[in-house]
Amino acid sequence: MNEAEIQGIQTLLKTLKNIVIIPHKNPDGDAVGSTLALWHYLKNKEHNAVIVAPNDYPNFLKWMPGESEIVKFDSQREQAEALLENANVIFTLDFNDLSRIGDMEHSVAASEATFIMIDHHQQPSDYAKFMYSDTSMSSTCEMVYNFIAFLGDEDSITAEMASCMYTGIMTDTGSFRFKATTSTTHRIIANLIDKGAENAAIHNAIYDTNSLSRLQLMGCALKNLVVLEEYNTVYITISKEELQRYDFKKGDTEGLVNYGLSLKGIKFAAIFIENLQEPYVKMSLRSKGDFSVNEFARAHFNGGGHTNAAGGRSDDSMEDTIAKFTKLLSQYKSALN
Ligand code: 5GP
Ligand code: MN
Repeated sequence: MNEAEIQGIQTLLKTLKNIVIIPHKNPDGDAVGSTLALWHYLKNKEHNAVIVAPNDYPNFLKWMPGESEIVKFDSQREQAEALLENANVIFTLDFNDLSRIGDMEHSVAASEATFIMIDHHQQPSDYAKFMYSDTSMSSTCEMVYNFIAFLGDEDSITAEMASCMYTGIMTDTGSFRFKATTSTTHRIIANLIDKGAENAAIHNAIYDTNSLSRLQLMGCALKNLVVLEEYNTVYITISKEELQRYDFKKGDTEGLVNYGLSLKGIKFAAIFIENLQEPYVKMSLRSKGDFSVNEFARAHFNGGGHTNAAGGRSDDSMEDTIAKFTKLLSQYKSALN
């Protein structure tokens, strides 16, 4: 953000506002962490701020400070609509297009509020008056840290805010291992620990609270893994019946796709998961190197994301989705070798 934009936001927030903060649908650690950190910041400044999430998120995020006050659009629709109607300022965090908030899209698009986007996804849409969009950033949480620093308020970061931002940076960087993890990311992480983020406890709360059924679902998914050697690609499938057999809970399949990418020599990994409620297949895509799963998801599966991590969906059956995916790979043979 440039000086003029920072001043514009400072002027906007000088008087107390009704603020709604929105993460993407099926919020992950970065989406929940960044919205909560910003929420604490704005509330500490006496604004009337609320987070409205499109829907629920996994239990392993439910220890986060302030989490219980998040309003969910799908189950608390009346309250959510009223908040959106009264909002003067809407922050949209960790997504690049209003289609990423599902059924909330229409109510949000209809709002007269001033929009502020903070996001690190590619190809951001042009709906916000103030756009802090940077695809080189590890996470939206790292950007919220910068945003608070831009406004001259780094000293106002509390232990609660630090825990939220630590969580999102940790989850979006695969615990500080992905390419977007810079020395600046590590400096920010160090500052967050100094400000009270309990790093070991956070890792434990996110990664070491599995249920036995989740571990068994992971075992089933790994058994279903298929290697397409010719394309340095693997895919994993999970059917509806398998989700039910292992008592699927939201978040249980998170991160599974990365196991595919951990195989030696593999450049492209996909997971296909049948939706329990509706007849479609949700997919997560991951890559190493230059092969852009963002482009792949945009071109063929109505999705998007980042170069090395993206998602999409298919309205075909699992069988047809796999057939389409496998057939498409022949177009990318040289990119994958
Ligand atoms: P995940 O596979 O972990 O759900 O998502 C990986 C990345 O792709 C995240 O940054 C997520 O926001 C993005 N993403 C996931 N699904 C979709 C989708 O259907 N459409 C778009 N545009 N992005 C997605
Ligand atoms: Mn993110």
